[in-house]
Amino acid sequence: MNFHIITIFPGMVEPYTKEAIVGRGIMKKVITVSIYNPRDNTKDKHHKVDNTPYGGGPGMVMMADPLVKTLEKIKQKIARRTLRQAQGKKVPSTGSGQAKVKIIMTSPRGKELTNEYADNVIQKKYTDIIFICGRYEGIDARVKKIFKAEDVSIGNYVLTGGELPALVMLDCIARRIPGVLGNSESIEENRISTDEVYTRPEIYENKGKKYRVPKILLSGHAKKIEEWRLGH
Ligand code: SAH
Repeated sequence: MNFHIITIFPGMVEPYTKEAIVGRGIMKKVITVSIYNPRDNTKDKHHKVDNTPYGGGPGMVMMADPLVKTLEKIKQKIARRTLRQAQGKKVPSTGSGQAKVKIIMTSPRGKELTNEYADNVIQKKYTDIIFICGRYEGIDARVKKIFKAEDVSIGNYVLTGGELPALVMLDCIARRIPGVLGNSESIEENRISTDEVYTRPEIYENKGKKYRVPKILLSGHAKKIEEWRLGH
């Protein structure tokens, strides 16, 4: 799966995609992540991406044109890639054949991100997911109309921008793609998991008090451990 993130703050997004599991997913060529700055698709010398809202009100609105141009460029890039893939050429991306593109608009008013939502995205076999990160008061509504983007929220609260939401969504979707998590890790539904977990040492002392690992976990009794985890 190829992820594309459109943001006016690429520096906020890039480090996260380089490390740990997402970074390893890129190394293993199971996913790719590309980042685009809509400022690169402006013509004025200040690279303006926002303007005042029609109808008045506080704050600024992200203008349609830099985002539309960025989305068009991404679509062209995807089309070039699929053409090369169809010709049997090696390309620096994952997937093959026809592209299936989904455009997600980060929005506090969107459909809420859940494990089911992420699984659905994977089951539908999208080759490309494009995230648009809003800033200020949001994005000129015409962008969504032109590209039939879906509004998706990471929860019932308002943040200052769509960068964290895009990363949350990417992380949530990516870790569910087969091959992204290693053998030693796996998604919760496939095992009995709990948030009450322990590692060495067996007895941990803090301010004179001893905190012990529950005995059952030291017992080596797989069935009982499973029951204990279920209870948690
Ligand atoms: N005035 C807007 C909120 C703007 S917040 C409103 O009432 O809907 C600025 C940007 O941050 C949004 O465009 C969106 O991209 C992002 N954002 C904020 N909270 C979010 C959330 N819970 N989920 C997803 N994106 C969010």
